[in-house]
Amino acid sequence: MSELLRVENLKKYFKTPSGFLHAVDDLSFSINRGETLGVVGESGCGKSTLGRCIVHLLEPTAGKIFFEGADITYLSGEKLKESRKDLQMIFQDPFSSLNPRMTVKSIIMEPMLIHNMHGGDKAKQEQEVLRLMETVGLAERLADSYPHELDGGRRQRIGIARALALEPKLIVCDEPVSALDVSIQAQILNLMQDLQEERGLTYMFITHDLSVVKHISDNICVMYLGVLVEQSSSEKLFEKQYHPYTQALLSAIPVPKLNAKRERILLKGEITSPINPAPGCRFAPRCLYAKQECFQVQPELKELEPDHYVACHLY
Ligand code: SF4
Repeated sequence: MSELLRVENLKKYFKTPSGFLHAVDDLSFSINRGETLGVVGESGCGKSTLGRCIVHLLEPTAGKIFFEGADITYLSGEKLKESRKDLQMIFQDPFSSLNPRMTVKSIIMEPMLIHNMHGGDKAKQEQEVLRLMETVGLAERLADSYPHELDGGRRQRIGIARALALEPKLIVCDEPVSALDVSIQAQILNLMQDLQEERGLTYMFITHDLSVVKHISDNICVMYLGVLVEQSSSEKLFEKQYHPYTQALLSAIPVPKLNAKRERILLKGEITSPINPAPGCRFAPRCLYAKQECFQVQPELKELEPDHYVACHLY
């Protein structure tokens, strides 16, 4: 499969009164066309900042982003507008990401109007809105409803239809199901998988919950405080986790079988400040296996098995 997106040594720092907050610190990875990359980590690890840099809602501090081989790190004007067609985002909270004064139809149509889709033909755009509503499982009768009249699942379906309106190649999904009930989560995940198969979409799926990405990701990146700590195919990662943080994340997933047990690893200790972080492994204050070296030298991402990368001094 051909490479669609490549990120090289990406950094995003924010200036604060106490120093620079290292939200994303030297991240490199790629996503192939038609695949899903799961980006997993707890709140504040920088995964949403990473997604926002890729869709140009934030400007990176350093590093490169390549899309279909072209450098798209810093774009402006017409080039930025063009890139919006290829790169779309689905947001975590469907309610706050939808304009409450707009109807379902007008929300989905808005990007088509901005980008003059379908030759600017209003009738064709309206037809396309209804087709998209049908695709994402929204009844036509809801076209003139407002977001507050609908439940969370339907609101997220509007967000998906809006993201699809420009026929993008890559969609960054930022915790798209975490605000929804479990039964609705499964419906939305199934819908996204069906759309991927039908349209050959590529997803970057951001979540704090490893179990959510288990079935939909081809590859997984585990992030901790702005850095990549483990990266491999989904299959390999669920078979064997090397990094102590990934092990703790996996131990939090409930085991479905009766009488089956998985010992939960409870993380103790303080989370390192992402503002001017101290040298060494950022997970060290919470790691059960931390040794002296861990507080002094930041571990590099090493390939422990073919295509399985880990940043930890244990290996
Ligand atoms: Fe733990 Fe050290 Fe590995 Fe960091 S490098 S995860 S502190 S063992």
